[in-house]
Amino acid sequence: MRLPSRSHTRTRRAVALAAAATLVTGGATGATNGAFADPDDRAGRDRAGQDGFYTKKTPTSRGYGGAVTSVDPEASRVGVRVLRNGGNAVDAAVATAAALGVTEPYSAGVGGGGYFVYYDARSGKVRTIDGRETAPFEMPADAFVNERTDEPYRFFPELVTSGVSVGVPGTPDTWDVALDRWGTLSLGQALRPATAIARDGFLVDKTFRDQTRDNKERFDAFTSTRRLFLPGGHAPRVGSVFRNPDLARTYRLLADEGVQAFYRGPLARQIVRTVQDPPKTRSTDLPVPPGFMEIGDLKQYDALTQPPTRSDFRGYDVYGMAPSSSGGSTVGETLNILERFDIADMRRIPALHHYLEASAFAFADRGRYLGDEAFVDVPLADLLSDRFARERACRLDPDTATKKPVPAQDVDDYDGRCGGGSDSGRSERDTEGVSTTNLTVSDRWGNVVEYTLTIEQTGGSGIVVPERGFLLNNELTDFSYTEGPNHPNQIDGGKRPRSSMSPTIVLRDGKPFLALGTPGGSTIITTVSQLIFNRVDRGMSLPRAMRVPRASQGNTTAAYGEPAFIERFGAALEDYGHEFAAIEELGAATAIEFRRGGKLVAVSEPTRRGGGSALVVREQR
Ligand code: GLU
Repeated sequence: MRLPSRSHTRTRRAVALAAAATLVTGGATGATNGAFADPDDRAGRDRAGQDGFYTKKTPTSRGYGGAVTSVDPEASRVGVRVLRNGGNAVDAAVATAAALGVTEPYSAGVGGGGYFVYYDARSGKVRTIDGRETAPFEMPADAFVNERTDEPYRFFPELVTSGVSVGVPGTPDTWDVALDRWGTLSLGQALRPATAIARDGFLVDKTFRDQTRDNKERFDAFTSTRRLFLPGGHAPRVGSVFRNPDLARTYRLLADEGVQAFYRGPLARQIVRTVQDPPKTRSTDLPVPPGFMEIGDLKQYDALTQPPTRSDFRGYDVYGMAPSSSGGSTVGETLNILERFDIADMRRIPALHHYLEASAFAFADRGRYLGDEAFVDVPLADLLSDRFARERACRLDPDTATKKPVPAQDVDDYDGRCGGGSDSGRSERDTEGVSTTNLTVSDRWGNVVEYTLTIEQTGGSGIVVPERGFLLNNELTDFSYTEGPNHPNQIDGGKRPRSSMSPTIVLRDGKPFLALGTPGGSTIITTVSQLIFNRVDRGMSLPRAMRVPRASQGNTTAAYGEPAFIERFGAALEDYGHEFAAIEELGAATAIEFRRGGKLVAVSEPTRRGGGSALVVREQR
């Protein structure tokens, strides 16, 4: 067993009365009235649609005084009400995330993890929280090999639906740390609106029903999951009301007893039991390998506050997540490579060629160097340096696509003039799911939160903790367990698997210009890069940058392309040597742009994942 080398201590807040917090934090970030008018009040769902449920989707909103954008109307609504009631961006982000845990339970929730990026208006600084799920300390490097057969477990069905892939959840602690450091509400106050939705229910939409049906076999494999998500043996109908009273109770437990009620005590013991001995139904054929989690793993979990990555891109400062996520360094490197070219003056096809190539180079380096920094030395300074980007750009042929996979660049051997050495090119096996969810929040004081959270696969491990109303993640499948023992993202006890999550805040002259993020597994990196490329290099408006078709080149022979992308640009890019594989859609992004005079442009997806909901506090100044 090896313990992580970094440690993190902090004082958990005892009683966080918002009014008291206001006194401490002052007017710049504090809530004014300290609480919600009455967040449990259904009448609060004003301007709601059918039966009082808030279902209206608004892909773009323009206005002032703060904004919330997420994939879900109920969740965005919760966040914007927190802002209107005097909460700050951190309060609203936690409240929105908690609501997503109810309405998007297959993408995120207290059984998972994520990354939280925060711009603090008062100090002008960007801070981050790494709330990544962590491997149990006793998890061996060969945990994904079946002891009985000596054969590696298959990804489907063994690893995806298993106890062995469940990492120690980081989301509850992320919420607690965020509120404790920068919020004005207590955890209990921030959880209240989501608790009401869990108790009273939300309207099932097509996405929820489809996701339930796609997971039917594995949800049916667990007594707890079947009971919650397959009432009467079937996926809930579109338009029916879905209630989760168990989750409402779990949220109330956290509200009453604090986050330690998750990491120690009866709930923690129950999580451990569920991981070690998943509650399989008698009828299932799924193997469901058990996991290694113990109570000590939960007790020792800490969400980590840490500095962001930073890179400059055409006069903007781009802040992202440092390892354990590969998001910040890979988005940063992609943009740094693009910066070496005059993309704005190019026609569309050559510009897209450069985008695809830059991303393949950055992915090669990600595969070679990125892992949990507590266990491996990640050469972040090299990967994000302009000299390194110059070296990489030397290999980008403006007229021809490089043969994929491209090799990684040796970080000990580069001079920025193409003199350096590289290893042999190899693609990594990509097993990251394409679930997850993302939200962007800003407040009237100018604070900004970009937060991506996940349980990995859509439906996570498929295992609901009995009578607690939430799914456990299968995040440990993000380890690179097929890449050999020396890979920086190899399994290790106490280690965090490398992520692609890329919540990003872009500043101009020290002030927010753009905040953005998305789900999508490894394509998160390319979608965030492409959005910035569209907005900054191609000069698109943010709604248009969001709408146009996407492609993702993660250093594989064929890049993923949305059908509309392939239809419009595929043939011309194939002339350069690019290859494409069609994928239905890439990402479900959210973003806010900060314009002059305090104007906000809040954007969510018009159609991807059923369309999102971007709301502003006020439409008029
Ligand atoms: N597990 C993935 C990651 O950490 C996220 C999965 C997704 O976005 O769907 O990068």
